[in-house]
Amino acid sequence: MESTASSFVESLRPAGSKRSGKRDFIVNVFLRQEGHLTADNLVDLIRREDQRISRATIYRTLQWMVDAGIARKVDFGEGRFRFEHSYRHPRHFHLICKTCNRSFEFLSSDIEALIEEVAGARNFTPRQSVLQIHGTCEACRTGRQSEAEGGTTTELLFARDALRIAIATERSGLEFYTRASSITKDARGRRVFQKLAEEEKEHLGTLEARYRELLQQDPQLESRPTFLFFKGAANGLFAAGADQLTKGVDDQKALMIGIRCERGSHKFFKRYGERFEDSEGKRIFLEFADEERTHLDLLIREYRLLVERQRKRRGARAKRKPRQRASA
Ligand SMILES: [Zn+2]
Ligand SMILES: [Zn+2]
Repeated sequence: MESTASSFVESLRPAGSKRSGKRDFIVNVFLRQEGHLTADNLVDLIRREDQRISRATIYRTLQWMVDAGIARKVDFGEGRFRFEHSYRHPRHFHLICKTCNRSFEFLSSDIEALIEEVAGARNFTPRQSVLQIHGTCEACRTGRQSEAEGGTTTELLFARDALRIAIATERSGLEFYTRASSITKDARGRRVFQKLAEEEKEHLGTLEARYRELLQQDPQLESRPTFLFFKGAANGLFAAGADQLTKGVDDQKALMIGIRCERGSHKFFKRYGERFEDSEGKRIFLEFADEERTHLDLLIREYRLLVERQRKRRGARAKRKPRQRASA
């Protein structure tokens, strides 16, 4: 079920806290904003719509939103805090221009994996990590204003990039299963790979249709800067798997490589999907994780059946030529 901004606020409202007209109004104005506001920015926005609300009330509400998890406080080293909403807005990192003071958001599964690795190696339980890259933005450096900036929501960028990862993974999965079905000698194993290749092709079509739908919400969406970086993510697994297939592997090994790819892919999408705030991007990740789980289960089942068949075949051969088996 699609959750709305107001049900999001309701779900975070602390127990026993009453609804208030003024506070709801301030929260709603805040949730409509993209980017990182100072408390004074919010005061200006609210006062433009309603002169009667005091600065103190707005400050108090902002703190209430931070405590309730509706707003996140960020410090860009300017000597004052800024605030961003967390509605359909995953935690992210920032690029901060020291000339124009604008900030740009991004996420990177590789950086997060690295942070987990470092924390794990030091037996440290990470709660929150802040990564800021300070410098000069393209517009300030070149004087050219990038057209594809602003005017869209992070939610949309996030959904676009989540779909791009899923599509890239699906493509490399298709390539992997097509190659696997062409080298498999066992008839049943070949059918399994063919079936998976067909499934990947069908899912690819669904994902691409969803991507085209998304593009209709914002004509410039394709050319907007990347939000979610995924260099070493799941699609790399299948590409590596497809490479291994070219080095002459038997049916059993091919299934094993498939299992490894699907397991890695399932884990990747589930782990990141669970971490994101409720959003289209999150749904894309979790649905894809389920799909990979189904493929994984299928491959494991086939692997066991293949081993079983091979054992029977060997058993039958051994009965025919008992001596040869002993020397093998
Ligand atoms: Zn700048
Ligand atoms: Zn931000």
